[in-house]
Amino acid sequence: MNKLTIREALQRASSFMEPLEDTRFLAELFLRHVLGLTRTELFTRIHDEVTPTQWEKIEELLSQRKKGIPAQYLLGEQEFYGLPFRVNPSVLIPRPETEILVEEVLKRLNTEAPLKGADIGTGSGAIAVTLAAHSKWQIYAVDIAQESLDTAQENSRLNGVAEQLTFLKGDLLSPIPEKLDFLVSNPPYIPSQDILGLDVQVRVHEPMRALDGGTDGLDFYRRICAGLPQVLKPGGLVAFEIGIGQAAEVQELLLQSGAVQSTEAIRDLAGIERIIIGS
Ligand code: GLN
Repeated sequence: MNKLTIREALQRASSFMEPLEDTRFLAELFLRHVLGLTRTELFTRIHDEVTPTQWEKIEELLSQRKKGIPAQYLLGEQEFYGLPFRVNPSVLIPRPETEILVEEVLKRLNTEAPLKGADIGTGSGAIAVTLAAHSKWQIYAVDIAQESLDTAQENSRLNGVAEQLTFLKGDLLSPIPEKLDFLVSNPPYIPSQDILGLDVQVRVHEPMRALDGGTDGLDFYRRICAGLPQVLKPGGLVAFEIGIGQAAEVQELLLQSGAVQSTEAIRDLAGIERIIIGS
């Protein structure tokens, strides 16, 4: 192969992919990943040489991406609420909608108080770590999967909040050892019969246990709400992310639990009721 410069590699990588997505943007991300360069460095060194080994690695990433593997898994990272998170196929890739949950909780509680809370089904730890990074709270990060807890723990160290988090392996509320000021969760909520309709990138490559919410998608809300009175202090706050059309039923489940007095639904940027707050 003739000498290949960064500029040429960028062009070659961009044309490698389907014109379906922002190919130029992805080409740039993959090049930066393999060459270990910031965006500025990439463009100030645009005439530098890319070695054949480096190009092979770039090509490998491109062909994996072409097979549908999300770029976040290939790069091993996703930003959430301005913070860096490590991701891998054992955890759901943090979504922008979930940032609304974090924002609403931070808005409603005293971030300077030594509150105690839990994040049920923490996955990558995006919610728990971000809440801890913006507060003095102690948070139990609960997950049924050890790989998720390992990822969440890595993310807590990466963001300097490891001392504020306690990682518990177990089923939903069962491992929580004390009464809490708040509880947050983005549980699996896709109705089982809708799983086939998900984008193939999500359905094939993201963990099914983080998506499938049972027949009507509400299984996890039912089970969490049933246990709420045992773990939530009177006057405590609950925040759930929910799926399309689930607001009324989830609000009803929360009120029926007796653990909260009132509920409210917050819409996402697409106008869909996405977050339910109970207090
Ligand atoms: N928002 C995710 C999706 O649509 C689902 C997340 C979840 O089930 N909690 O892919």
